[in-house]
Amino acid sequence: MRIVIVRVVDGWAAHATAVLRAAGYRSGGARAAVVDFLGREECCVSAQQVHEGIRRDGRAVGVASVYRVLDLLLALGLVQRVDVGGDVAMYEAVHPDGAHHHHLVCGDCGRVERFTDDGLERALHGLGERVGYAVAGHDVTLRGACGDCRPTAAPP
Ligand SMILES: [Zn+2]
Ligand SMILES: [Zn+2]
Repeated sequence: MRIVIVRVVDGWAAHATAVLRAAGYRSGGARAAVVDFLGREECCVSAQQVHEGIRRDGRAVGVASVYRVLDLLLALGLVQRVDVGGDVAMYEAVHPDGAHHHHLVCGDCGRVERFTDDGLERALHGLGERVGYAVAGHDVTLRGACGDCRPTAAPP
């Protein structure tokens, strides 16, 4: 009996690599390093964070190359820019199966947290049908003060 060992690969990184290859880009070098890094991130990161993460992996990729790869991934729809306030562009992987999350942003300390909510997804889907749009996606960001920064309620 032959046993076939299937290595479980990261869904997004494998998808991104396939799309890059289909678009005529060889994998390797800066592209592979950025894709590997983004495939492991759970939320949005800046180009600087990508650059530092890659360096921690022991790979040498210049910041300019990181920006070029991010622009390419954006153009191919593999990542999206996420507006979580601040003046630094943040990037996040776009999953081919539509899996996604939304963001909570604290205006005081700048903390960004992720959340998902099935009821919200259902409501947005229903809204799309009601307005007669073929909705391809949505962004939801809640802004305010996080649990640490929020003024505590006055004692009764
Ligand atoms: Zn995120
Ligand atoms: Zn959603």
